[in-house]
Amino acid sequence: MAHPHYLWTPPPVPSLPVRGGDTRYPVGRIFCVGRNYHAHAVEMGVPVDKATARPFYFTKSASALVESGATVPYPCGTANYHYEMELVVAIGAPGFRVSEAEAGGLILGYAAGLDMTRRDLQLVAREQGRPWDLGKDFERSAICADIVPTGDLGVLAKGAITLAVNGQPRQSADLAQLIWSIPELIADLSQFYHLQPGDLIYTGTPEGVGAVKPGDRITGTIDGVGAVSLDIGQPE
Ligand code: MN
Repeated sequence: MAHPHYLWTPPPVPSLPVRGGDTRYPVGRIFCVGRNYHAHAVEMGVPVDKATARPFYFTKSASALVESGATVPYPCGTANYHYEMELVVAIGAPGFRVSEAEAGGLILGYAAGLDMTRRDLQLVAREQGRPWDLGKDFERSAICADIVPTGDLGVLAKGAITLAVNGQPRQSADLAQLIWSIPELIADLSQFYHLQPGDLIYTGTPEGVGAVKPGDRITGTIDGVGAVSLDIGQPE
């Protein structure tokens, strides 16, 4: 099928810039980890005991991806629109049922990301045992900066992660506080999916999540990785 006869022009492949060149990283799937910092799990009212718990995941559509530096309209359907600052892992090699020792070999790079959330809708879904899609997988909800090739960073295990709103600090933690480390997450996720180049993993947010309103500017940083920013526009 060299020239499939589509009814309309398909949308462009979602992608992110790769730092240090002019290539782009085509995004296939977006996996997100829930409750991966103890203090955030507590603020959400659901503490995690790693001895008995397993990591859990939700997904966002690749079409929800927005590049850092954008302005997005305050989303429809919510009155409690939250930021979540996260380290994003970019997968660059296939892996299925990999060990933690093998997991590092799947990492192409890292990025600073925002898992934007309609918290009111997520919590209603959570209380009712329903899917989180309305709260998590909505248009323009996955913000991501450029991808930094792994290089000398290796398998990241520490580094400050911060977020500010209009310059006021709101989140401040360290990647060393991840409940499930990057190798543990990759190994675990690969028990359930054939991981592929183009898969992004949002690794969870620290404590201090909160609401933003039109006119706010979010800025986040991860030591050694970079920064992400987002401006909140007027509601549609
Ligand atoms: Mn999150």
